[in-house]
Amino acid sequence: LDTSIVGRGIKNGFVEIYTHNIRAFTQDKHRNVDDKPYGGGTGMVMQAQPIYDCVMSVINEHLATGKKKPRVIYMSPQGETLTPKTAKELSEYEHIVILCGSYEGVDQRVIDLDIDMEISIGDYVLTSGELPALVLINAVVRYIPGVLGSSESTTEESFSENLLEYPQYTRPQNFMGMEVPEVLTSGDHEKVRKWRYEQALEITKRVRPDLLTKNDAD
Ligand code: SAH
Repeated sequence: LDTSIVGRGIKNGFVEIYTHNIRAFTQDKHRNVDDKPYGGGTGMVMQAQPIYDCVMSVINEHLATGKKKPRVIYMSPQGETLTPKTAKELSEYEHIVILCGSYEGVDQRVIDLDIDMEISIGDYVLTSGELPALVLINAVVRYIPGVLGSSESTTEESFSENLLEYPQYTRPQNFMGMEVPEVLTSGDHEKVRKWRYEQALEITKRVRPDLLTKNDAD
């Protein structure tokens, strides 16, 4: 959270991020937060009580200052896959709470009671929710107005307009005998724009044809 664009966003006051240790809310004398799954099976499940109390304490702290109830998100492989649309929508919330699971996941009752939305960062399973939460934070923070400098933008990049981005080049003009495409050094902005669009279309057709048939409402 200290580095790069997210770090800069925090430093410049565009976003505040707090972490809360669920273990601090356990009522168990051994400070446990997990237990064996009912019905048997491998692994451990995070118990409902410490998570519920932790999330409620965060929500209540927020409500006490007269603010709206935050949106509570659980990072989960069973959630809807993160898209730029969701990231942008979440950037408009004043406050979001992100729950990270561990072990085999969390007691379903906590999801039923507390969670407004489950988000997955892709069809693979990680050992815990912290990296997915960082991915979500990074994706969301980029959309908060002011976080990206004027030279960085979210309007012309992969997935905007349902296209992947065109190839990028920087100096030197010749690297290992490979020249930068001539059009990019032509100074003809209209030609550059057209070339980039064609390239974006071509690469999208080749590697992600599904994006081209996607409805914007998806
Ligand atoms: N047993 C669960 C996986 C638990 S993984 C299952 O099969 O569905 C442990 C924790 O890691 C989860 O609670 C979740 O918070 C996080 N996690 C793992 N993979 C994730 C993914 N692809 N997206 C978001 N969170 C993920």
